[in-house]
Amino acid sequence: MYRINNFNPGPAALPLEVLNQAQDKFIEYRKGISIMEMSHRSKDVEQLFEETQQIMLGLLGLNSDYQVLFMSGGASMQFAMVPMNLMSPKRNGSYILSGSFSEKAYKEAQTIGNAKIVASSQSQNWSILPAVSDLNVDPDAAYIHITTNNTIEGSQFRDFPSTSSVPLIGDMTSDLLSRKLEFNKFSMFYASAQKNLGPAGATVVVIHEDLLKECVNTIPAILNYRTYAQNKSLYNTPPVHSIYMMKLVLDWVNRQGGIAEIEKMNVQKANLLYDVIDSSGGYYKGIIEMPFRSMMNITWQMMDEKLEKLFIQESELHGFDGLAGHRSVGGLRASAYNAVPYQACKDLAEFMIDFQKRKG
Ligand code: PLP
Repeated sequence: MYRINNFNPGPAALPLEVLNQAQDKFIEYRKGISIMEMSHRSKDVEQLFEETQQIMLGLLGLNSDYQVLFMSGGASMQFAMVPMNLMSPKRNGSYILSGSFSEKAYKEAQTIGNAKIVASSQSQNWSILPAVSDLNVDPDAAYIHITTNNTIEGSQFRDFPSTSSVPLIGDMTSDLLSRKLEFNKFSMFYASAQKNLGPAGATVVVIHEDLLKECVNTIPAILNYRTYAQNKSLYNTPPVHSIYMMKLVLDWVNRQGGIAEIEKMNVQKANLLYDVIDSSGGYYKGIIEMPFRSMMNITWQMMDEKLEKLFIQESELHGFDGLAGHRSVGGLRASAYNAVPYQACKDLAEFMIDFQKRKG
């Protein structure tokens, strides 16, 4: 079957195996009924949720001190829910700014209460990451928020604040399940599904029970993390089909050998492209400084916009999709999430070399 080489930043590529499995079960999940037609109060759905939560914790190497919650509203809703649940007049939300999405999270928090910037690389136009090992954080802060991978700019944190007293919260939307992290250093992290977890619709929140206890009672139930925890993410009607797809994706990750094996492959995939960029004699220029480069979103520029446009046009004719950089950054971006095959990255690397030979 013909498949486009899908480098879209999200919604993004899904494993073909998973799409096939979903197709097989599309009409009949159980005899005579599709999962999309079932009550979210049914045994099947309850079981699906429990299994998906357990597989997620297993992949992350976390124990039952953490709860996996499913919600809608994307990571953008988490930008609002985090401060609504945790901030108070005496306890600020501390933000590390490293790219556009972290800035969005911070701005949303400002509408709720006292949001503070504790590190930022905005003045470097996000081309580096701010140092986070030694932050000046108020010991009474409600949390520190970090965006582990900056999808738009193409940078990724490898070091994290050591915040024994202040809970660390991560927006992992664009790199959850792509690499091993010390997940237990985080009190909470979240990701919308449409990069590495499945189709858009569901958002995953992984939260430690100690942080759950800190959630305020003065907000609407639908926005309170405790509501989701106490009702097994079934307080209202959840995006069941998106969560079903997520379960198939998580099973696929396990079949690949778990996060460690996925990470090895992701490093190889990204390096194929960075190697072309670095050996092009400046024809392709990485947007992010080397130590901060993302393994998920590989970004680069070319001599001028005209050449970049031509590159995109030709890449589309060769079966590559989604390589235009974000409108706020320009240039090119290849998003090589878990489901993007090694071969797709190899083909793109070869296309880049060939393009330079022909037009350089
Ligand atoms: N945070 C990051 C790091 C993202 O990459 C995105 C989307 O691409 C978001 C937040 C926003 O996610 P959503 O559109 O699901 O609200």
